[in-house]
Amino acid sequence: MSANQRLLERSLAAVWHPCTQMQHHLDGDGTPLIPIARGQGPWLYDFDGKRYLDGVSSWWVNLFGHANPRINAALKAQLDTLEHVILAGFTHEPVVELSERLAALTGGRLGHCSYGSDGASATEIALKMSHHYWRNTGHPEKDRYLCLENSYHGETVGALAVTDVSLFKEAYAPLVRPAGTVPSPDWRRAEAGETAADVARRAAAALEARLEKEHAQLAALIVEPLIQCAGGMAMHDPLYLKLARELCDRYGVHLICDEIAVGNGRTGTYFAHQQADIIPDFLCTSKGLTGGYLPLSVVLTTDKVYEAFLDEKVSRAFLHSHSYTGNALACRAALATLDIFQEDRVLERNREKSARFDALLAPLKDHPQVRHYRHRGMIFAFDVADAPADFSRRFYKACLAREILLRPFGNTVYFMPPYVVEEAELAFLSERAAAALEEALS
Ligand SMILES: *Cc1c(COP(=O)(O)O)cnc(C)c1O
Repeated sequence: MSANQRLLERSLAAVWHPCTQMQHHLDGDGTPLIPIARGQGPWLYDFDGKRYLDGVSSWWVNLFGHANPRINAALKAQLDTLEHVILAGFTHEPVVELSERLAALTGGRLGHCSYGSDGASATEIALKMSHHYWRNTGHPEKDRYLCLENSYHGETVGALAVTDVSLFKEAYAPLVRPAGTVPSPDWRRAEAGETAADVARRAAAALEARLEKEHAQLAALIVEPLIQCAGGMAMHDPLYLKLARELCDRYGVHLICDEIAVGNGRTGTYFAHQQADIIPDFLCTSKGLTGGYLPLSVVLTTDKVYEAFLDEKVSRAFLHSHSYTGNALACRAALATLDIFQEDRVLERNREKSARFDALLAPLKDHPQVRHYRHRGMIFAFDVADAPADFSRRFYKACLAREILLRPFGNTVYFMPPYVVEEAELAFLSERAAAALEEALS
């Protein structure tokens, strides 16, 4: 039995893989489980040396490639100094420096960092902190939330309350106290003659009607700025964020920007909300924060929110803790990642890569069944019309057979490559994806 085969059998016997119908792996002719022996740059390799180009950045987290020598070196040095220490009552260099540098990236306007271990816990922190702020300032009745249609903010029970993707929600609905939903500014909703900005204005008008009625009970509106990723790479005009910010201010409701997927340079600026020239009350960052190395999330907030928790009473303090809060290794990986952004002028170079990949995707854009091609920064997506019911699995498998890793949502195909991809790899990705599309539709 090959090394690949041995690992597959052990994995199928012992590991319950996430977001997966395990039966599909157990059926002999089903979706293959891929054993990975090692990674290098944007490539993943199995035990026989078969390779895959990681077109989804390993679930949107990897920015500067697998086994990045600079992040590795920073982590090895940190490992010999301090791996972890309790963050209650204690502090350490990596968590201090990371907090300072993240705050600086918001122009100092979000000057306080609270730490979690993954994206969903950042959502939980922002939701809890918003309500607790209102409670501390004499408005305990503000305990409701609004989210956008088709939003995704994580899958823990609190985060599911503001998630509107039915697949993730259906089975667990009885456990959840659901938030209100308002229309998405997704530009694909444009009617004849409407621009993306018109759709944004329409969605903002619906938001205003909702805020007018419910603001007294509402703690916060939570949005994924510019792109609702897990909801199908739905993109919107930055105008929506500007209007939502104005409305939240007018009605005394917090604005939470969930930048877990769209932050860390993904949409072209370090944070996505910067393209709308606004500042949220709470900013969640996680996925790309550590360059895809270690689980870590941060919620940044304002002096105003922070100061509302200061008091002699412990019950007025923010109460949310995870065992690994502010883990030193994860913070060090995040610092090494920020260094690469600076030293390599990554945002600037990504602008060229983004334009180049957009041009390379031209043949796909012109495919008769491709609709709504869209891109922003290092995210590219399109929808496939008249696709077979099992399109996403067919396409996924056709991609793997062509050495590329892409995982469509239903009929929406997207690319979210790590920032280290080179021109030749982008060409490889677009050519192979085009061939995989033909096979999946045949
Ligand atoms: C992935 C994601 C989350 C959840 O992060 P996890 O680390 O998977 O818990 C929350 N919000 C958005 C926008 C995401 O893309």
